[in-house]
Amino acid sequence: MNPYWSPVVGTLVPYVPGEQPKLSNLVKLNTNEHPCGPSPRVIEAIQHELGDALRLYPDPGAERLKQAIADYYGVRTQQVFVGNGSDEVLAHAFFALFQHSRPLLFPDVTYSFYPVYCGLYGIEGRTVPLAEDFSLRVADYLQPNGGIVFPNPNAPTGRLLPLAEIEWLLQRNRDSVVLVDEAYIDFGGETAIGLVDRYPNLLVVQTLSKSRSLAGLRVGFAVGDGGLIEALERVKNSFNSYPLDRLAIAGAVAAFEDEAYFERSRQMVIDERRALVAGLEEHGFEVLPSAANFVFARHPQHEAARLAAGLREHGVIVRHFRQPRIEQYLRISVGSTQQNAALLNALELIL
Ligand code: PMP
Repeated sequence: MNPYWSPVVGTLVPYVPGEQPKLSNLVKLNTNEHPCGPSPRVIEAIQHELGDALRLYPDPGAERLKQAIADYYGVRTQQVFVGNGSDEVLAHAFFALFQHSRPLLFPDVTYSFYPVYCGLYGIEGRTVPLAEDFSLRVADYLQPNGGIVFPNPNAPTGRLLPLAEIEWLLQRNRDSVVLVDEAYIDFGGETAIGLVDRYPNLLVVQTLSKSRSLAGLRVGFAVGDGGLIEALERVKNSFNSYPLDRLAIAGAVAAFEDEAYFERSRQMVIDERRALVAGLEEHGFEVLPSAANFVFARHPQHEAARLAAGLREHGVIVRHFRQPRIEQYLRISVGSTQQNAALLNALELIL
């Protein structure tokens, strides 16, 4: 460790993101990006902003975007927080809401950024095992005065928790903040945003990276009770009072204005998911039910690590986690018809 570092830096175990390869001819099914580009209205709005306006600082409150999100979900702007990707929103939420609470509970198989933020902020993270079939049992999350976080649908499994079960948990955990990370909700679930008026301990986090095809723009948001949102604003303003640049604000507002495009492109992913699952099953894979834009699959006769390496040799990248319980699984993003066909063709060559 460098002698000039603060001691805590030596203890951090940073998050390792999925590979972002330089070669554009690879079929990239490893980081759950949308196979289609964003709405043309998003591009237009960004182009319109590209000019003299860049001289000026953006609106620190990103009020136009908060208004667009509030209108879209039928909430008030005071119930909306925006940030640079949902990773940043999650970071502020962990800092603002989970420090010094009792243990923060999350599933043993879940988004691997949660333990990273626990390490960064000195939060005691405690994992709760998922059921044998990877479903989340809400009854295992009953604890007073603590914190709870999980993605819905979960990542990397894709399994969805019905909204009624989230409400069951909220009713029995009024002392704990429940953070539902809905990065993938638009591909098959019902958002919990409708519950925020009734449960002041619920924070719902979403992103424009997946269903709105804007991973490169870095926009995420949270919706919750004004009290929770105020805590996030305080933390944000203590780190960075301009979370979103002018291009991100303009593009994100336009994304919420093009509902027809959103519906079409999200439906396309849902249709492709069905075809991908069928194709994988034909090749002998067992595929978990997925409500996300990826599938989680294992082959009973072939090692996942070997399959991932073989696919890579044929120009297709998928995600393999060297992690207990899921070492035999591949997480495969749902691509376009052509990308999914390339994956299945490559599998044909290596199985
Ligand atoms: N939550 C989950 C469950 C995710 O899988 C991801 C994507 N890696 C994120 C949040 C963060 O997405 P972004 O920062 O692009 O909004």
